[in-house]
Amino acid sequence: MRATDRPAIETIVDLDLYEMPLSMLLPAGNVAALEPWRHLFEGDHVDYARGMVRIAIKSNVARVGGQTILVDACVGEHKERPQRVEWHQRQGTDFLSKLAQVGCRPEDIDIVMCTHLHADHVGWNTRLENGKWTPTFPNARYIVGYEELAYWQAQAAKSPEVNHGSYQDSVLPVLEAGMIDTVAANDEVADGAVIVPLPGHTAGQIGLQISQLNGPDVLFCGDAIHSPVQVPYPEWASFLCFDPSAAINTRESIIERASSSDLVLAPAHVREAFGMRIKREGARHRPIFCDCFGRPV
Ligand SMILES: [Zn+2]
Repeated sequence: MRATDRPAIETIVDLDLYEMPLSMLLPAGNVAALEPWRHLFEGDHVDYARGMVRIAIKSNVARVGGQTILVDACVGEHKERPQRVEWHQRQGTDFLSKLAQVGCRPEDIDIVMCTHLHADHVGWNTRLENGKWTPTFPNARYIVGYEELAYWQAQAAKSPEVNHGSYQDSVLPVLEAGMIDTVAANDEVADGAVIVPLPGHTAGQIGLQISQLNGPDVLFCGDAIHSPVQVPYPEWASFLCFDPSAAINTRESIIERASSSDLVLAPAHVREAFGMRIKREGARHRPIFCDCFGRPV
């Protein structure tokens, strides 16, 4: 298949399954409150009996405006992450062969879009070559929110091991290679691909809204929604959130937008579906798991 014949959006799953106790990931949450949505969440997204939230770690390749954009770069390989055993010193993950299966060599990526700089979103920004961290995508511009980069620069200057050391091994080498472009709200990074601010989860998280020729708009929204259980309960902020109340506002606002349009939300960690459409249900909302065209899956 030639690149031009490929689907506009394709997903690469780096790690599935990744589980965390609901009470740890979303401290305000509890499994009992999710009982009305058991038919939606049991199995793929929540293990009700064990009180676990189930997520995946994913990238997406979006072909838009003549550009090939990699949205988020997952965990990577050979990274020192001793505090997270599933991320630590990974090898042979076949991420790059999965990329090849969707028609992309590393040199084909024009833009790497980092929704935010957490360690599970920047890992493949770099790879180890001759003992040195080297940008994986040699022809790409790496897009990062202005506030996001400034925040982690300041944090890493104080303590290099912050955020599992990922600034040092997955951001700084790209910055030193002169390959990072900082962006702000409403910047159009390609024809039909616009930056949307999504603050709260981190200091300067951003999303990317894509216009599709043959389908609804898609908003790659990073960790603005960490788990689909936050659709009925947007007030459950994650323990990782930089500013929980801003994170809640951001989440409520994209859920509201999606519920009153055909916008497809594509969070980085939702399992077994590309993303979600949103439907109002009484005082709350529920997700409709879907493919990138908004078709239920
Ligand atoms: Zn995150």
